[in-house]
Amino acid sequence: MWLTNATLVDGTGADPVDGQAVLVEDGRISAIGGTPPAGAEVVDCSGLTLTPGLIDAHVHLGWSSDMIATVSHTLPVAELAADMFANCAQTLDAGFTTVRDCGGIDGGLAGVVAKGKIAGPRILQCGPIQCQTGGHGQVANPWEPTELWATHDVPGLRHGAFLSNSPDDMRRNVRESFRRGADFIKLCVTGGVVSFHDKLTDTQLTEEEIRVAVEECAARGTYVTVHAHNKVGIQRAVRAGVKCVEHGTDIDEETAALMASHGVAHVPTLAVVRDLLDNAGTAGLPPAIAARAHGVWERMHTAILASRAAGVRVGLGSDLIGLGQDHRGNELVLRAAFESPMAALVSATATNADILGIADQVGTVETGKQADIIAFAGNPLDTPTLFGDQFAVTLIIHNGRVVKDIR
Ligand SMILES: [Zn+2]
Repeated sequence: MWLTNATLVDGTGADPVDGQAVLVEDGRISAIGGTPPAGAEVVDCSGLTLTPGLIDAHVHLGWSSDMIATVSHTLPVAELAADMFANCAQTLDAGFTTVRDCGGIDGGLAGVVAKGKIAGPRILQCGPIQCQTGGHGQVANPWEPTELWATHDVPGLRHGAFLSNSPDDMRRNVRESFRRGADFIKLCVTGGVVSFHDKLTDTQLTEEEIRVAVEECAARGTYVTVHAHNKVGIQRAVRAGVKCVEHGTDIDEETAALMASHGVAHVPTLAVVRDLLDNAGTAGLPPAIAARAHGVWERMHTAILASRAAGVRVGLGSDLIGLGQDHRGNELVLRAAFESPMAALVSATATNADILGIADQVGTVETGKQADIIAFAGNPLDTPTLFGDQFAVTLIIHNGRVVKDIR
């Protein structure tokens, strides 16, 4: 497949190149520029900007239905599954060819997408969130005894959170998550915004419990990422050996320096906070939860600056939850407005691929990489709102196959 006459933005941060061509063979990018081999299928990309397939480093495909209905268990499994499958397809349609699910699905969902039975992106997933009893991740009604928590899981489809209250619990739960197919592990080490029993200032899990998860991940050749808002929780997790911080709301100069010296990445999540501020009803959540988002919005922006100044790798994640996750690209729009369109794109491609540990496979349009390439009608570096417009994504090549073409 010979993609020609395109403006190429390769994801490395290099300037766009007009009139460029990309050769795709056997699912891989085999050449940039040059001349097409005889018999190549020519795909005219005039007026289009080619970029690497986007990567969302923080998604919750397991929370694809109305949140109140989800936590009050009023939906049949068929509807939960239908909403998840639709979200997978919609995510790919918006130009995201890879996502990292940060908690709530069973490996079965990733498997059914990988088999090609439903449309969707490449999914790296941690299975359930790992938290303490009453910690962020246990999205249960307060009246309900914790003994009933696990009964709401749907084996093979949805797996909300494993609760650990000792290092031994953590070791068992992490090992069980790996047995069920987890690619990495996510812990909650502070309270959260969408949280029923805690505050943003709470710390959760002990350093020893975090260390056990880090040890088990190291034994598997993978890593721990943590949900963390406050500094005490973030610093404790970094000292315990985690490799990535989600949200990172209160990262300041001192915390960023600690993260940089330990090679820990930061994945800020603006889109979900914006949603909660604008309309908690979008996710079906009560106003009390939306009120928590106030302040987080401003602080998370300051945290991005602190991470950048310290040289911390800054990825990008939308953290969208609930029905109607049709604006995943809004995370790039928000970051483009705050930093630059190029910074947003590099975070969502090369940097995210590096954070996910798959930079040798995807994340840039370079010779030898898997062919995950998308095309925008127009240039999102000039018009960043295109990042958030699924109809502007007119061509999607995933693993070398055309999965969308509305040129
Ligand atoms: Zn999340």
